[in-house]
Amino acid sequence: MACPCDACDENAPFQNPIALYTGPEWSFCKSSSTFVQPNGLVTYYLPSVLAPKPLFEVTSAQSVSQNGGLYRLKEFHFHLSSEHTLNDQTFPCESHFVNKTDDGHFCVLSFFFELGDVSDPMITSALSHVPFPVPDLNEHFAFPGSFTGNQFQKTIQWLISTHVRKISPNDLNELKLRQFAQSARRLQPRNLRMVVLNQ
Ligand SMILES: [Zn+2]
Repeated sequence: MACPCDACDENAPFQNPIALYTGPEWSFCKSSSTFVQPNGLVTYYLPSVLAPKPLFEVTSAQSVSQNGGLYRLKEFHFHLSSEHTLNDQTFPCESHFVNKTDDGHFCVLSFFFELGDVSDPMITSALSHVPFPVPDLNEHFAFPGSFTGNQFQKTIQWLISTHVRKISPNDLNELKLRQFAQSARRLQPRNLRMVVLNQ
C-alpha cells in the first residue's frame, strides 16, 4: 500500500527541502563552479484586489546555463520561513527563481535571507516593482531534488547560494502582511544524493 506521505515516493527518492552544510563533514562535496550566471531583469508585483496572487514578469531576456541546458525564468516567489537549512539554521525568508528548458527540465535558484538593518536590493526592488537582476549565486550548492509545493515526483536541479542576504524586519513584515509568500515544506532526507558545493 502506498504511503500517504508525499515524501517517500519510491520513484522520487530525492525530495526537497534538505539540510545543507558548509562544514568539514561535507568537504568531499566541494568543486569549482562551471555555472553561468543568469542575466536579465525581473519585476515583481504586489498582489492587489484585482490580482490577489503575486505577479512577475521577465523584462528582458533571462537565461541560465546548467549542465549544458538553457533555462528560462518561469516563476519567482518567496517562502517564509526558509525551506532549506544551512548549517542547521533556518532563515526567515528564502527566495526561489524557477527556470525551465524548452524540453521541460527545471532548475531552481535559491537565496536565503536573514534579518538585517537594510534589505538586499532584491527585496526592496521586489516590494517596489522595480526591475531587478537575478542575483549572483556566488558559492552555491548544486544537487538534484524535487519541487516543494507540488509535483514532488519530478526531478529538478537545485542551485542554492551559501551567501545569506539581508531582509529588514519591516520588509519581512510587509511580505507577511501581503501574504504572498508561500509556506515552507518540512525537511526531507538527503538519501545519499550527490550534493556539490561549487566555490
Ligand atoms: Zn519555492
